[in-house]
Amino acid sequence: MKRNFNFCLLAGAMAVLSLTACNDDNFETTSQELQTENAKIEQPGEIEKICAYVDQYWSSTAVLTTALQNTTDTNFMNTQMTRIASMWGRSNPTLRFVNDPSNYNSTYNAISYSTGKIYYGFAIYYDAKAKGGDIVNAMILAHEYGHQLQYIFNLPSVNESTARPNELEADGFAGYYLRRPNGYNQTSFAQIAAAYEFAQSIGDYQTTSPGHHGTPAQRRSAVRLGFLLGEYSLSAADFDYNFFYYYQGVLNGTYKMSKNSKYPELDAYMSQYLEELRKIQTGEISAEEFKQLK
Ligand SMILES: [Zn+2]
Repeated sequence: MKRNFNFCLLAGAMAVLSLTACNDDNFETTSQELQTENAKIEQPGEIEKICAYVDQYWSSTAVLTTALQNTTDTNFMNTQMTRIASMWGRSNPTLRFVNDPSNYNSTYNAISYSTGKIYYGFAIYYDAKAKGGDIVNAMILAHEYGHQLQYIFNLPSVNESTARPNELEADGFAGYYLRRPNGYNQTSFAQIAAAYEFAQSIGDYQTTSPGHHGTPAQRRSAVRLGFLLGEYSLSAADFDYNFFYYYQGVLNGTYKMSKNSKYPELDAYMSQYLEELRKIQTGEISAEEFKQLK
């Protein structure tokens, strides 16, 4: 996720050169065009900096597009976007892709904006697809949409001094979507766990202050909790209620002694898995064993 402040970006920032600034023969041409294109990219404000995939800002040479490199990829993402939003009973947010041929690595990013937009970088899309297949992009998009749900419904209902509950809940929303029959319809957890392991290996999941966004073990536990909650059809608010009912298990392996009387059937189902969630959180279930869970 480290920015490559290469010659193109520096030159672009200092001299407002064209998109093709690295082709020397185009050096002084379309600066006005570039500014026009750049004006379409909204940079994230303070509120948006809750997301694990956010790496500050888009580069000055990045452009918004409505398409990826081919229609198969574009259709996949648009179909996923519709499926995710409709599963939660919502119309689509604005999904746009971000391309930057002169500074490709700068698009290794996805951002969910409080203004109802998701910007998804070419670099993260194609790396995820190459290394983990379609399911990884579905998971990342469902995570980003989880932040849309948080904006819309004023979630998460739990506040902490860091972004941790936002991020862990977004991971949970993604795990839930991947399981639901009207979502990604993945009945086996193994594929989801593999997708998660890739997702957590990219982006600023590699943070040097893991406590800020949740540790890898807490994130595994959150994805698993979201997947388990996918046994039931829940509204975003109901999901939030139940996610945070079992949240202490995700954080530190402890659980409320009282029954979840608001959702007794769900609670009976979840009671079979509380020990497992605890072991994921403590690392007694390793990253490898995590991928073998049913
Ligand atoms: Zn996030």
